[in-house]
Amino acid sequence: METSVTWAPTELMLGGTATPAAGGGRFAVYNPATEEALVEIADAGPADAARAMDLAAATQGAWAATPARRRAEILRRAFELVEQYRDRFALLITLEMGKPLAESHAEVTYGAEFLRWFSEEAVRINGRYTAAPSGNGRILVAKQPVGPTLAITPWNFPLAMGTRKVAAAVAAGCTMIVKPAPDTPLTMLLFAEVMAEAGLPEGVLSVLPTSDAPALSGPLLADPRLRKLTFTGSTAVGKSLLAQAAGRVLRTSMELGGNAPFVVFADADVDAAVEGALAAKMRNGGEACTAANRIHVDNAVLEEFTAKLTARMAKLTLGDGTQAGVDVGPLINQRQRSKVGELVDDAVDRGATLLLGGQPVAGPGYFYPPTVLTEIPSAARLLTEEVFGPVAAIAGFDGEEAGVAAANATEFGLAAYIYTRDLDRALRVAERVESGMVGVNRGIISDPAAPFGGIRESGLGREGGSEGIEEYLETKYIALT
Ligand code: NAD
Repeated sequence: METSVTWAPTELMLGGTATPAAGGGRFAVYNPATEEALVEIADAGPADAARAMDLAAATQGAWAATPARRRAEILRRAFELVEQYRDRFALLITLEMGKPLAESHAEVTYGAEFLRWFSEEAVRINGRYTAAPSGNGRILVAKQPVGPTLAITPWNFPLAMGTRKVAAAVAAGCTMIVKPAPDTPLTMLLFAEVMAEAGLPEGVLSVLPTSDAPALSGPLLADPRLRKLTFTGSTAVGKSLLAQAAGRVLRTSMELGGNAPFVVFADADVDAAVEGALAAKMRNGGEACTAANRIHVDNAVLEEFTAKLTARMAKLTLGDGTQAGVDVGPLINQRQRSKVGELVDDAVDRGATLLLGGQPVAGPGYFYPPTVLTEIPSAARLLTEEVFGPVAAIAGFDGEEAGVAAANATEFGLAAYIYTRDLDRALRVAERVESGMVGVNRGIISDPAAPFGGIRESGLGREGGSEGIEEYLETKYIALT
């Protein structure tokens, strides 16, 4: 198939215009399936950050005053254009990130849907007007855009992690500077072109890929004109950005790491649970913040579940995501592959049983095979750290109480999955599981119309749903006589 990307954008998008980096620097973007460079792109530095900030600040007033209907129409047009260019987006996602083309198409659908969803939300930003209960005056509550926002995005969903921020910001009337992950900047640059084509006014959106993230984000977070930081990425980086944001008391939305439990109770439909686990574990090759990191199965059905999941995992084909018939692509880079290998080796060294995979795969390409481990000792790092790879870690438990305790044995709280045929138990457990999202008898939960986000060390705030736009709005109380 055609894998050349001579059409991929390679300059910065400064306020909607392709622009070389002020310092003239460039860096290469690699294909993780071949380890070959795809293209070299402009490398943004502090001077570019300053130019983007000037544009965002200068445009904010006019953009906030643009009628919501107009902002909605731009987003709706962008939704249609992303669909129109879906083959290009999907190919670019596969080439820079590695996931199989079918999954890239699923991401295009998911990513585009944020544009449609927020085009519908833009015209429903409502305040309220009430009489003060004391009889002393009236209360008017207005919503206003937060203002210029810095968005920092990860590499695992190069389109969707961007659109769910940009679409909400555009709907609310905020200008935005996006710093995409250095592994996958091409998709976001293409998306910025699409936004310009959709009619987004010059200055509203800048996309600044860089090989030196702190050199870009540091000055922006210190700039008094910036009003908000929205970040999706690891908890460690999120904590350091939160500390910087505290310096200026910035509004923040933090979508951080996960350690999702997938809990199968004794009364579950085991076949459905196996299919759900496969989806929750293997979507995006395991490189998803919502990925089932720990699979806890009641000992009553542990043997059956483990045998069936291992058989399903064994049938998955590993390979270059551009090729037909491939189910699992490479990991994003060598660092990520080493980390996955380390966590598996640590579990095996501590006594876990390896049922499938676990061996390095010859390169080129950062491949790691679908792997299943069971009888994982509680001290294994796999149970406490996010593996972010195609590794199913299965552990047994006895009874509902132990299942809930296992699910909550983490400082994270993004997604959780429970399988049971008992509705009472489903609701009881869903209420007790400490996470921002719970899937009941389903392994995929992401939906642009639902509030996505975590509690505890998985983050602050929500993206998508009617909650998503609130993250970009300030509440103003106007006291009336
Ligand atoms: P990462 O934290 O390494 O990087 C995320 C982004 O932050 C990238 O753009 C990176 O360049 C930038 N960055 C890194 N160090 C920085 C610094 N010192 N200053 C400023 N920016 C910096 O995460 P990743 O490896 O790209 O993504 C994987 C992580 O993201 C996982 O932990 C995953 O759970 C999480 N994630 C969370 C969600 C969610 O919605 N909660 C969604 C997707 C991914």
